[in-house]
Amino acid sequence: MQTQESDRKVPGTKDLHRAVENGHNHIFRLARDHTGDFVITLSEGTLAIEFGLTTEQISGKKLTDNLFSRADIQVLPYYERAFKGNIVEFETKIRERTFLTTLSPISKDGKVIEVIGSSTEITERLMMEQQLQETEELYRSLVEDTLVGVYIAYVEHPGFVYVNPRLAEIFGYTQEELVQMTAADLVIPEERTIIRANQDRRLNGDRSSIRYQFRGLRKNQSIVEVEVLQKTSIYKGRAAVIGILQDVTERKQAEEIVRKSEMLSIVGQMAAGVAHEIRNPLTSLKGFLQLLQRQTHDNKEYYGIMLSELSRIEFIISEFLVLAKPQVIIHRKHEIQKLLEHIVMLGETHAIMFNVEIKTQYEKNIPPVPCEENQLKQVFLNLLKNAIEAMPTGGKVTVTAKMDGSMLLVAFADEGCGIPVDRLGKLGEPFFTTKEKGTGLGLMVSYKIIAAHEGTIRVRSEEGVGTTFEVRIPVG
Ligand code: ADP
Ligand code: MG
Repeated sequence: MQTQESDRKVPGTKDLHRAVENGHNHIFRLARDHTGDFVITLSEGTLAIEFGLTTEQISGKKLTDNLFSRADIQVLPYYERAFKGNIVEFETKIRERTFLTTLSPISKDGKVIEVIGSSTEITERLMMEQQLQETEELYRSLVEDTLVGVYIAYVEHPGFVYVNPRLAEIFGYTQEELVQMTAADLVIPEERTIIRANQDRRLNGDRSSIRYQFRGLRKNQSIVEVEVLQKTSIYKGRAAVIGILQDVTERKQAEEIVRKSEMLSIVGQMAAGVAHEIRNPLTSLKGFLQLLQRQTHDNKEYYGIMLSELSRIEFIISEFLVLAKPQVIIHRKHEIQKLLEHIVMLGETHAIMFNVEIKTQYEKNIPPVPCEENQLKQVFLNLLKNAIEAMPTGGKVTVTAKMDGSMLLVAFADEGCGIPVDRLGKLGEPFFTTKEKGTGLGLMVSYKIIAAHEGTIRVRSEEGVGTTFEVRIPVG
């Protein structure tokens, strides 16, 4: 860094010189001549040199002479204000470089006699500020607007230091609420040990990244399946864990569907092997029993029981055979209302036994539905019977058929016992039954048949209030 020769020093400018050296820029003095023009009386610093001007060339020049650039003219109002006694600060741009200039008025007898100006280049500082701002914006949007939940917590402290908006959204809280809480509050009680074990690992100095899944608890007490990837880091000088968290409920559900359908295909294969082998001997056993029953009069009731037990075996086998059947081939369209009327008639005897009333609501103008009639009947009968059996002390089943977009929707709504949340996932698994004489095959067969029709079965249930099974199949 260079300053001008020292013999040009003006008394009282020593400090200014030092400022120039330190600030490595420019310092100048201006007076005002009788015409009101601003005249430069001193100009020291690297700036002039960089712009190819010597101090001698500048001294005595007027601001309006345009020494540096046209910017000189634009800044005249600032000088005007400085000569009125104000300290003025302004930025100027000269050839892509930005300078910050401060004008300080020097007064004598209440009148400004001159103005001392100093210019410092701030190009780099501005650039750095801008870069910093851009980096900050980048990080902010990465963390704030991202699709995964992000949190920071100190190792020694339970509780969050920071959570991003997505994390709050996943759990249904606000960010403010969450920072008042601890990780354990967001996990169902049965799985809190997972969280505690991880916290202990951290406290014992384990710094590796870990990935785990747990069932989270939302503010409204519903369950959300989450996966967390966690790493130890330093935040504000203290050991902290930084985690990203994802809602994997849908992925889990998809996995569950795949698992179920795999199970179904295995059961199907088994069924194919076993059912045929059993059916033939069964038929002949039944035949012989009926023969014996007619011939003897002793132990008549035993034959009755044996026959009804055999019928039950036969029924289970026939359920199995549906599973064993290859893909449904849908040949024809069928009137859904007729089909349902038939089912309701069949269900009526069952309903009377349970003191249940069956109500029907069929929308008009439902177009004929392409389906395998007997299979669809089997599904609807299953659902109707389940609905009736859910109300051992009586009640009402409502059977509804209507269009839902391009799908036919058939719903069976009961006022029965309902299904606990943890059992909902088991519906459709082979042999899952809560009934003494149940087979646990009805729903599995129903799911299989509806899947073959490219439809869906959805369940809504509330314990003690009732259950609705909704079957949707595409029409046309
Ligand atoms: P099953 O009727 O032989 O038990 P399903 O496969 O038809 O076999 O049903 C399995 C189980 O699902 C039932 O035992 C019952 O616990 C439950 N379930 C099905 N439908 C209902 C319903 N409408 N209300 C309550 N629970 C039901
Ligand atoms: Mg059933």
